Amino acid sequence: MFDVNSVRKDFPILGSTVHGKPLAYFDNGATTQKPQCVIDAVVECYTKTNSNIHRGVHYLSDQSTEMYENARKNIQQFINARYSQEIIFTSGTTGSINAIAFSFGEKFVKAGDEILISAMEHHANIVPWQMLCERKNAKLKVIPVDENGELKLDAVDSLLTEKTKILAITHVSNVLGTVNPIKAIIDKAHKKGIPVLIDGAQSIQHVKIDVQELDCEFFVFSGHKIYAPTGIGILYGKEEWLNQMPPYQGGGDMVDCVTFEKTYYNSLPYKFEAGTTNYVDAVGLSVAIDYIKKLGFDNIAGYEKDLLEYATNKLQTIEGLKIYGTAADKGPVISFLLENIHPYDTGMILDKLGVAVRTGTHCAQPIMDFYEIEGTVRASMAFYNTFEEIDRLYEGLLRVKTMFG
Ligand code: PLP
Repeated sequence: MFDVNSVRKDFPILGSTVHGKPLAYFDNGATTQKPQCVIDAVVECYTKTNSNIHRGVHYLSDQSTEMYENARKNIQQFINARYSQEIIFTSGTTGSINAIAFSFGEKFVKAGDEILISAMEHHANIVPWQMLCERKNAKLKVIPVDENGELKLDAVDSLLTEKTKILAITHVSNVLGTVNPIKAIIDKAHKKGIPVLIDGAQSIQHVKIDVQELDCEFFVFSGHKIYAPTGIGILYGKEEWLNQMPPYQGGGDMVDCVTFEKTYYNSLPYKFEAGTTNYVDAVGLSVAIDYIKKLGFDNIAGYEKDLLEYATNKLQTIEGLKIYGTAADKGPVISFLLENIHPYDTGMILDKLGVAVRTGTHCAQPIMDFYEIEGTVRASMAFYNTFEEIDRLYEGLLRVKTMFG
């Protein structure tokens, strides 16, 4: 059975105090905390095995290379990719989407073509496509959402046209928590021969991902949102697509042979890993994945569902509190506003009480515009949060109301 108190002991930061109060960390959508095993793995790399990968004949370089390549295989198994060369290490979700937008765009997008995204995307899945559209004189189109924060699926068929070159969509909304029915959406796109990129930044830590079952062409995520270090992320791509795409950065390791006349590129995955990669944090990511696997996704999902239900029911009893994002299928995220109280004021008072939430647009301004609001307060939960912490969030909000109401 899932024992939150024992799990919490794995995360040293959770035992700390903020402004003299025990920390209640509800900012997991922005980044997650790290278990001791991940911190230890990174320290161990620097203390025992550090050496640049792929370039040496000496012992440490061999060790380091082996650990890096084993991490790749572990991630391959974790998301059930067919081949390890389909796993490219990047700096994170943003790095992965930019890489695809540039490389895929160079190869496949021309003037008059269309790129389809949704109205609930993070800026990381909007701006790189806008930049591509500007470069190529292509058009960005958007799947609309309804008041509950669910995609208007009826619109998808007509938005996917013979001009659509790629559909790039988030699995779970970082603002609304909506879990999009991506399998159905991928199938719709495939019926018209259109490849799909899934932004898994907010799903990889909550649900088991199987890229072969999803059959998406690209799946991207960040290490730091799945209890791993910052600065490391994954670009999964089907081999047949990655092989057709040009490198997006040139430099060491991504080449096979260089002369001043012509350069021949390395094969996958190295073609997309120019320069010294973040080989240490790749090991940290692999250890984080082992940790998650040990906890078990069924346990994680079951407990997080209970947290979400408890928090939603409790917060809804507060008069004047409005929740944004009421989809039937939601991840453990609650975005809300207290009537006539600025989200920053709410966030600041909660902080004084030791409760960490995020306020603002959450890098998703277009969805704020849709709701005609400037921002929200967002409590995003993880499996190490407790029901008592939710009680403290609730009490804190009552306090905010008395102070500003
Ligand atoms: N996509 C979504 C849905 C996100 O929630 C985030 C981060 O919050 C990103 C992309 C960008 O992730 P990163 O900043 O790790 O690149």
